[in-house]
Amino acid sequence: MPPSIHSHLSGKGEVASATSDDSPIGSPRHSEKSQHSLEMVHVETSMNPRAEVLIEEIIPKVAKSIAEMEVTNPEILRATRAFAAFQNFAAALRAGCDRDFFHKSRKSHKISTFWSHSWHGGQWKKILTLLTLYNGFAALLGGFFVAILMMILFDFGLLPDWERFGNGNFSMWCLPSGFLVTTLVMLLWRSQNNVFLDRICISQQDNDLKAQAIFSLAGLLKKSDVMLILWDPTWTQRLWCLFELAAFLKSKKVTSGKQALIVRPIFFGPISIAIFIFCCAACIPLTTTPVSSDSTFTVMFSSGTCLLVGCVVGYPTILTLRNYFQNLDIMRQQLLEVSFDTAKSSCCEQNHQSPSGQPVLCDRKVVKECVNIWFGSQEAFEQHVRSEVLEILTLSLQERVFTMPWVLAVTSPFLWYFMDLSASFIRFEWTGFWAHPSVLFLIEGLSFWFLGIPNVMDLLLMFCRVARAKHQNFYLEILKNLLVIFACAFILAILFGLYVASRFANDFRTVVWVGELMLYALCMRLSAHGMKAVVTRFGW
Ligand SMILES: [Zn+2]
Repeated sequence: MPPSIHSHLSGKGEVASATSDDSPIGSPRHSEKSQHSLEMVHVETSMNPRAEVLIEEIIPKVAKSIAEMEVTNPEILRATRAFAAFQNFAAALRAGCDRDFFHKSRKSHKISTFWSHSWHGGQWKKILTLLTLYNGFAALLGGFFVAILMMILFDFGLLPDWERFGNGNFSMWCLPSGFLVTTLVMLLWRSQNNVFLDRICISQQDNDLKAQAIFSLAGLLKKSDVMLILWDPTWTQRLWCLFELAAFLKSKKVTSGKQALIVRPIFFGPISIAIFIFCCAACIPLTTTPVSSDSTFTVMFSSGTCLLVGCVVGYPTILTLRNYFQNLDIMRQQLLEVSFDTAKSSCCEQNHQSPSGQPVLCDRKVVKECVNIWFGSQEAFEQHVRSEVLEILTLSLQERVFTMPWVLAVTSPFLWYFMDLSASFIRFEWTGFWAHPSVLFLIEGLSFWFLGIPNVMDLLLMFCRVARAKHQNFYLEILKNLLVIFACAFILAILFGLYVASRFANDFRTVVWVGELMLYALCMRLSAHGMKAVVTRFGW
């Protein structure tokens, strides 16, 4: 027992304490409860008939100790590298795993990012989101590096070419290798970011250390630069998650807390991955379908197959995107109704009794007392969450999640496809740098990637946002998804039509294509802004 806690608990000489969580760590019961609990503070009823009264009496003292935001022992201020959480198929992030991970953490003087999450939400979505956030950038760099390397090797004739329906010299290296390396780096990258994950950084075996860590939770948050909330609908319902938010907002004096508070719904990872896979799948027919001497047949066949694959893979992608916007609505509603009285806590669910029948502290009462000390009253904190925090979240989740770099990242397979196309034409006779098809394809690809795609994506996201409401009728739901797909396919078809039209400009085709793209980008941007204005006006 840490001295500070021990003194105020045993000050009366009557209260025993700290036998701890009786359930073995990792047992089903442990996995089911919230990640933190003051369950270890309970009173030996056999020795003390006034146990329940005493428990009530020590609540203000426990709350005062926690509200001081001190770390009681330097041994518990610990952090781990982000990659440690992803090892062994992200065992430390899976609720059912019963291993001990404490040895993966080490003493630290501060924490870069505190991961706040609920053990009750979708664990695989959470793992994919963390992988995307921490390994995504390195994965794409790896993908691009290998795709460029393959292009250079192919250009120098060091890689075999592929025959497509009797026509040889085609490169099919950039897209598959880019995809493969991105996937591998995403799974295997060892991110060195200094993070706090409760399962790793709080000892689950040493009850003394565990008790001290829970009592110092607010202190640990104070020592954290950034708090990353991995939001799912259960997060707002968990008492200790709300406590973490309150402690962080208090420790960062609210204003600086705004920049330090990052919220990512756990659907962010699945969405990013789904769009990336969709782009790869849509490009595969373009690099593999037979090529005939009749260019019309080639174009129609490959784009038809591309459309077919796009629709098949596009359906789950649209579904995931609509789900994302539906969940933003849920989050907004939950934050408007945020309350410590309705939040779930394992102590209340277990009727404030340890498995051995001893009365335990009510976490809710302690947390409410802490919030009173920090914010003046519970209502003041709830009001703060409803106004300022909600504003930060709404803005960051709608405007700052789907940024231009994100769009370019998840759609990079399109550029890899153009790199393959460019490499395939490298052996054409050189009549001039700017006239060579290899150079022209590369310029066309880059302009398509930079100008065309971000605008299509903008509208796609807008369609999914407007059409987010879920229908009770199963068939109407399918119809809605198909409508969004057709709307997007229509926009892409315009782009495709423009590309085909530019072919008629012969020597100037690339210039015409870039000009068309600029015009297209302008029109799409205006449409997106118009739609945004309508959506905001009618509160969709
Ligand atoms: Zn309780």
